[in-house]
Amino acid sequence: MKRRDFLGFGVGALAGMAACNSPSSTGDEGPAVVSDKKIRWRLASSFPRSVDTIFGGAEVLARRVSEMTGGNFDIRVYPAGELVPALQVLDAVEQGTIQVGQSCSYYYTGKNPALAFDTCVPFGLTARQQNGWLEQGGGGELINELLSDFGMRAFRGGNTGVQMGGWFRREVNALSDLQGLTMRIPGAGGDVMSMLGVTVQQIPGGEIFPALERGAIDATEWVGPYDDEKLGFYKIAKLYYYPGWWEPGPSMSFFVGDKAWAELPATYKEIFQAAAAESAAVMQQRYDNENPPALARLLDKGVQMRPFSDEIMTGASEASQAYLEDNAAKDPGYRKVYQAFAKAREDGRRWFGASELAYARFVSG
Ligand code: CA
Repeated sequence: MKRRDFLGFGVGALAGMAACNSPSSTGDEGPAVVSDKKIRWRLASSFPRSVDTIFGGAEVLARRVSEMTGGNFDIRVYPAGELVPALQVLDAVEQGTIQVGQSCSYYYTGKNPALAFDTCVPFGLTARQQNGWLEQGGGGELINELLSDFGMRAFRGGNTGVQMGGWFRREVNALSDLQGLTMRIPGAGGDVMSMLGVTVQQIPGGEIFPALERGAIDATEWVGPYDDEKLGFYKIAKLYYYPGWWEPGPSMSFFVGDKAWAELPATYKEIFQAAAAESAAVMQQRYDNENPPALARLLDKGVQMRPFSDEIMTGASEASQAYLEDNAAKDPGYRKVYQAFAKAREDGRRWFGASELAYARFVSG
């Protein structure tokens, strides 16, 4: 993978910082003092190395933590399947077999459906809005309340930005075109698609291409140009629809077990949080830098971009709203998080509509 260079930041510089720092922002330990305690953690990711923008986020975290502690806090990073299966990362943190996991909360809605709001929901928040809500608007505290039932907490771990709607072998213009369409689309997006008549398939990343090639599926979604190009869907399906309304700003997380966290010296907690924040920023920067040229390459290969029609967007939006409200009606815990999320979404509409979105609409039109 492409490496980024960072300015070194040794223990000497840290000592200077710690000396003039006020008490730790983690709160309960008093002033942070430099530690030379040796800590060894294992991090399991839900992602393979090949999804290098996301998996690379775990490597940035580990490298920065090591650099900032002079190698004393060492996090070994394992891709999906090496230590634990891709979708059992939270279970491994819960059991204490690993200290930290890189994953998405929405893979674990079986533990608590409201965890979906930590990642994204259909017609939810953009990356900017999601970060604002989770980090500054109280969303992250609500998610950590849910995670405390499983003995862990989450730190933001990056975002893909709004995803693409995916690759279609045939045109879909009206809602009626979705009837009987077979599509690979996981999670809540799949639930909403099936409300619209789509036959939904859950297929792991590595098996999508052959399924598309032999016609077992008519369409598939994945992430966006940079990641999609590597899986080669453009060789089979030339129509590339947008936007991926089911994943408008999916947020990754680093999940840390409470026991492991409690054993960290106060400075290491500060360093971990700083490194996680940097890793999250780098992931978004990489997507924002890599997607435009990847899209240009795909268009050069004959890919045709298609916006979802107003009819499909409106129908999907209405179905998504019904889906969220139905979940909220069934579960008071879900309702509490949904209401906070819905307020953030509603409050953001006018501002973002008048700023980022209005500007983007004009310059990209
Ligand atoms: Ca996706």
